Amino acid sequence: MPVTIVAGVQWGDEGKGKIVDCLAAQMDVVIRGQGGPNAGHTIVNKHGTFALHGVPSGIFYPNVLNIIGPGTVVDPIQLAAEIAALDTAGIDTSRLLISERAHLIMPYHRLLDSLDDCRRPSNLTVGSTGCGVGFAYSDKAARIGIRAGDFRDRTRLRSLIDVALDRNNALLKAQFGHPGLTAGEILSAVEPALSTLASRIVDTSAAVELALADGRRILLEGQLGVMRDLDWGAYPFVTSSCPTPAGLAAGAGIPPQRVTRSIGVMKAYTTSVGDGPLPTELDAHESERLRSMGGEFGATTGRPRRCGWLDLVAARWACAVAGFTEVALTKLDILDTLAEIPVCTGYTRNGSPISASAASFDWIDVDPIYEKMPGWLTSTTGARHVGDLPVNARAYVDFCAHAVGRPIAMIGVGRQREAIVTSER
Ligand code: GDP
Repeated sequence: MPVTIVAGVQWGDEGKGKIVDCLAAQMDVVIRGQGGPNAGHTIVNKHGTFALHGVPSGIFYPNVLNIIGPGTVVDPIQLAAEIAALDTAGIDTSRLLISERAHLIMPYHRLLDSLDDCRRPSNLTVGSTGCGVGFAYSDKAARIGIRAGDFRDRTRLRSLIDVALDRNNALLKAQFGHPGLTAGEILSAVEPALSTLASRIVDTSAAVELALADGRRILLEGQLGVMRDLDWGAYPFVTSSCPTPAGLAAGAGIPPQRVTRSIGVMKAYTTSVGDGPLPTELDAHESERLRSMGGEFGATTGRPRRCGWLDLVAARWACAVAGFTEVALTKLDILDTLAEIPVCTGYTRNGSPISASAASFDWIDVDPIYEKMPGWLTSTTGARHVGDLPVNARAYVDFCAHAVGRPIAMIGVGRQREAIVTSER
């Protein structure tokens, strides 16, 4: 009864969607355990190119049961549109369930999110995507959130919306001078979408318990990465949920002792969308070069991603905090044309060496120490086994594995599902 977790090691956008898409062929159930539509997983397979924001990446396999778990937040309008687009593309979405416990992103959450970042001092904007995810989680913690299952009882739903509007409208008026929204406006905006989702909104814990009891293979799919974790990331430049394996297990309803494999997905270099510290960030010119080589633009917003060399100090720290058992290294092929590849193996602050744990409170004023690895100047895209990789590419992979203290079980060498190197030589 194996449970596999796939989560991000870095700041998100590591290529988790592709890794999940590859592994889902051997799975019975794929569950999203945290997060909302603020990050997209891009998947390229025989059906086309898809950016999934709410739907789990196992959706392309008709035998896989896909679950949007209780720890997620769901925007009903966005999710209904995403499902409709998959249906139009001929993807069978009949095996997709939504936990009745998942909290809903309501129109006032999106509105507040879009107004909020503009109001913060420039050094504390958190680079929100404006999807309302943080405000929905905030209402959940304040116990005025609305869960997907609340939709079943319209009278109750109406009074829950009234309670939520009391606070959210006060905030809209006081802080942004916005007149606020009415319960009628909210209901007419979300009801059509919720009606199309209604048959999928169930107690998913029953399905999960059954899958565990039957020894089914379960995969938990994380969103963003450890460096954006609410507890462990570079606060306040974090997301509002916990993308570590522990957070995912809790949010999916999987007892932690049932997890057998925990894969940290790590890009062969570093990217980040939005604000916050990024120790290995390159200057504008170099960043632009890596960005265009790697196609580093946000799947949700299209925003250009900030780019830098691989930060092995942060990655090792993240692997330790998260407890990853192994790593999937992605986008190795993007480095194919470089003669020399710097990797960060240490930090200084004010000229003195500092440890990852000392840096990890805020990751601010950290200067990277680089080692330069020789490039391989050969395409790796056709490689399928480690033995197919050029010697210097293997040396890069081995160096990374040693630095983070984890075996590298999979290596991404292209966007396509099949462009993956497995660890046998
Ligand atoms: P996720 O949110 O972690 O799933 O990552 P994104 O989908 O936001 O970004 C990853 C991008 O890299 C997507 O465009 C993927 O198609 C692409 N990708 C994933 N793995 C690889 C790889 O090994 N090589 C290349 N060239 N592209 C990859």
